[in-house]
Amino acid sequence: MSESANLLKLFRVDQQIRGLRSRLTSAERFLAEQQKLMAALETKLATSTQQHKIAKAAAAGAEGEAARIEARMNHLREQMNLAKTNKEYSAFLTEVNSLKALKDEQDKLQLEQLDRVDQFAKQMSELDAQVKERQGVASKAKAERDGKEAEIKDRLGELSKERGVVRDGVDAAHAKRLEDLMERLGEDAMAMVEEIDRRNHEWSCGACRMAVPAQVLSIITRGSLVNCPSCGAFLFTETDVASKKLPKDLDAPKPAKAPKAAKAPKAKRGETLEA
Ligand SMILES: [Zn+2]
Repeated sequence: MSESANLLKLFRVDQQIRGLRSRLTSAERFLAEQQKLMAALETKLATSTQQHKIAKAAAAGAEGEAARIEARMNHLREQMNLAKTNKEYSAFLTEVNSLKALKDEQDKLQLEQLDRVDQFAKQMSELDAQVKERQGVASKAKAERDGKEAEIKDRLGELSKERGVVRDGVDAAHAKRLEDLMERLGEDAMAMVEEIDRRNHEWSCGACRMAVPAQVLSIITRGSLVNCPSCGAFLFTETDVASKKLPKDLDAPKPAKAPKAAKAPKAKRGETLEA
């Protein structure tokens, strides 16, 4: 079997593996999204809880301060009743009045903080409900992902074994190059040469439509590896493209089963012909 046919076999196995994994990948992506949303909600909840605590402490502080001022005012009022002169009385009165203004401030502050306490408490209960709801979605997503993983496990194991065998028959450098191309081009890492117009000797790369000259096609049909000069995909020809459809004036291998090309000169292992 030609290097090109071997590489194509590896590509087909990899495609199957990718197809299987993609089912798991989408379930994994969904789970990750849910976990991310949940983490964001938990962060918000933690912030609200913290703010709630601060507002509560501020309210208590204002309440304590108001009580302290109140006590001082009561003490002054008692002293006012015992004042001996008008001057003394009005001095106490002035102080009581200024303390009253301070106490009003603290009362107001306490009310404001109590409002905040209510707001944050409401926010916390809403966020708590959202976290619980999201937890439900996330745990379903996890079950889904685990199920998918279990579902493909056996088949993936078989394919991995098969891949190992196929890969052993392929030149290591070519296999590595195919892996890189699959990362970059996915399904287009290997492209079939497509016939555009047989009479006018027009063929093109099945991935990017770049023209493939007849001479290059002839090299490919002998099983040598050629990369598309435009998109970089490994080019291959299906047996029928190579045998039935190949015009006679091209230096095509005679037997009909072309990519096997037993009689055609083979490219040496590890050799890649650039078009
Ligand atoms: Zn191309």
